Amino acid sequence: MIYGEPVLRTKGKQIEKIDDDIRALASDMLETMYEASGVGLAAQQVGRALQLTVVDVSDAESRPSRMWLAGEEVDPKEQMPLILINPEVQLGEELETGTEGCLSFPEITAEITRAAKVKVTAQDLQGNRVEFEAAGLLGRAVQHESDHLNGILFIDRMTSAAKAALAGKLKRLVADSKK
Ligand code: ZN
Repeated sequence: MIYGEPVLRTKGKQIEKIDDDIRALASDMLETMYEASGVGLAAQQVGRALQLTVVDVSDAESRPSRMWLAGEEVDPKEQMPLILINPEVQLGEELETGTEGCLSFPEITAEITRAAKVKVTAQDLQGNRVEFEAAGLLGRAVQHESDHLNGILFIDRMTSAAKAALAGKLKRLVADSKK
């Protein structure tokens, strides 16, 4: 789903029951993310307004990630992919600016300021509670995807100057989405 589609602005519904539909959706989303070489994808981006996102930062060699489980630092690669259901993200106070793109905004990147570290609680596909802390690219990806689940897009977090510079491109995306 490309910018201009209303579902991208729709807050995702909580997932009450992890059934075959949700399992199939998660597996479709992983496939779509890998095909597009993305590091994350939210359900809204495949047309479903649900609290479900997938993340995999293992191929992003040039942009390191850090992850902690129960306070112990772990190798993020060994935890990928993450399938997060009903995630809640607590933002750390320290901020960091970095480059972001989004599969719903082809060919657009921007510098976005976000929390340098986050604490995440969610459910996995088995319904188990997962809890971790993340920083670096993983921390950024989780915040970007969690925004999607709430109908928030990265253009909302750009500086007004950056957004103004992209106005022409954004207009074209919206026009294309209506074709
Ligand atoms: Zn995105």
